[in-house]
Amino acid sequence: MSTTERSPSPPSASFITPIALAGNLLLTISTTRPQLFSRTYRVSTTALTSASPFFAALLHPSKFAEGRTVAEILANLPSSLGDMDLAQLPRVHVEDVGRISAVNDVGALIGDFLRIMHGEELDKPTMPVANLANLVAVADRFEALDALREWAERRKVVESMERRQVVKAAHTKSARGKAGPETLSEERLRQRVLAGLTLGYSPWVGTYSKQLILGPMTRREREAENEEAALWWDLPSGIEDEIHVRRTYILDTLASIQSYFLKRYMSGERQCRLGYDTSAACDSFQLGEMVRFFGRTGLLRMSSTLLSASDADSDAGGTEYTGSISAIIEQLKQCPGYQIDPNHKYCGLRSKLSPLLSTFASMFKPNYRAGNVGICGDCWEKYRQRYAWGRAKRPVTWAMETANDGERKGYGYDYGETSCLNGHLPARDMFMAAIRDWTDVELAQTGWSTTPFLRV
Ligand SMILES: [Zn+2]
Ligand SMILES: [Zn+2]
Repeated sequence: MSTTERSPSPPSASFITPIALAGNLLLTISTTRPQLFSRTYRVSTTALTSASPFFAALLHPSKFAEGRTVAEILANLPSSLGDMDLAQLPRVHVEDVGRISAVNDVGALIGDFLRIMHGEELDKPTMPVANLANLVAVADRFEALDALREWAERRKVVESMERRQVVKAAHTKSARGKAGPETLSEERLRQRVLAGLTLGYSPWVGTYSKQLILGPMTRREREAENEEAALWWDLPSGIEDEIHVRRTYILDTLASIQSYFLKRYMSGERQCRLGYDTSAACDSFQLGEMVRFFGRTGLLRMSSTLLSASDADSDAGGTEYTGSISAIIEQLKQCPGYQIDPNHKYCGLRSKLSPLLSTFASMFKPNYRAGNVGICGDCWEKYRQRYAWGRAKRPVTWAMETANDGERKGYGYDYGETSCLNGHLPARDMFMAAIRDWTDVELAQTGWSTTPFLRV
């Protein structure tokens, strides 16, 4: 909503924030969310219309009444703008500043945004990531993301934030005397993904989307329902859904590891590996310990088939796990090495589980720039149709050999145009497969087979 008017009384210069000293327009921007705000800026119509299609349309002489009025007033202004009385300038009022978070100084944020649109220097050369993410939200509202991205790329804004972060981390490390990556809240991770995505800095998309996917994600539903929530609570360009899809497939893969062992031990086929002296008692003991371990860690809930799943689970059913995936992996690594007696040293879950977990974790390792779990910003931009897990067809089965076949087919190590894309596909195939056969992974790693271990 916006209105144009000739000022009835001359606006006092002290209430006007100058962006362009010789600007030909008084722009009042106001909002009610996340807090009440209204301020008038002196701006240049040329700068605004060239940086923002929103303002180009609003100020177009034949599109909106605002544009017509502004054009009429400007046509009758004296030619020397510098000496002109401010009251003669046309005025435009725009409401809503976009999905920003509650900030200390909305006026400074909007001022920075307008300065960037005018190619002017900012008051402070550096800013926290939250401010940058809020600038993205404002630019999104005024359709000026291209201009913001052009500014960020030219000034290497994100790169210099990254450098300062590294220096700060090194400083903290030497002060505390211990290493360890900084743990960022879900909100801060989201701000970085948003900034990386919209400002064209791919490493931030990869690194922080990975942390979002593997970390706890407890606030998404609540924040996404809230229309007033800041832009990063509902990440644009399909990223929000992609993060959700990836979490679901990764959880499905973890669940398949658990059911792989339960099914094997419940099949009645002898699992004990004590050579000639295999023992049914060993298998029963291991099955019992396994159920107890999965139950205790909260990964397994036993329920009867006598009631339908919807009856039995009506209270708990349908809720997706919102905790940390990394924490589940840590819990599984802590699996105790139970044995029925000292002879059955390698019969326990621990020795069988660890090769599967290490294959699983190897898929998290960086391949090219983004890693395979995080979203590669470059491939998202260039090859989204072929790259997105949310659009890919699920492979029917995955086994170690098919993964290696994939590698031979040129999935991994060609250096052609799509080498980055190809590098992500073996991991996607594993996580997305409808059926995963873990047998060879387990046997290869424990030395029961000579099949080379999957290299990804
Ligand atoms: Zn045994
Ligand atoms: Zn890529």
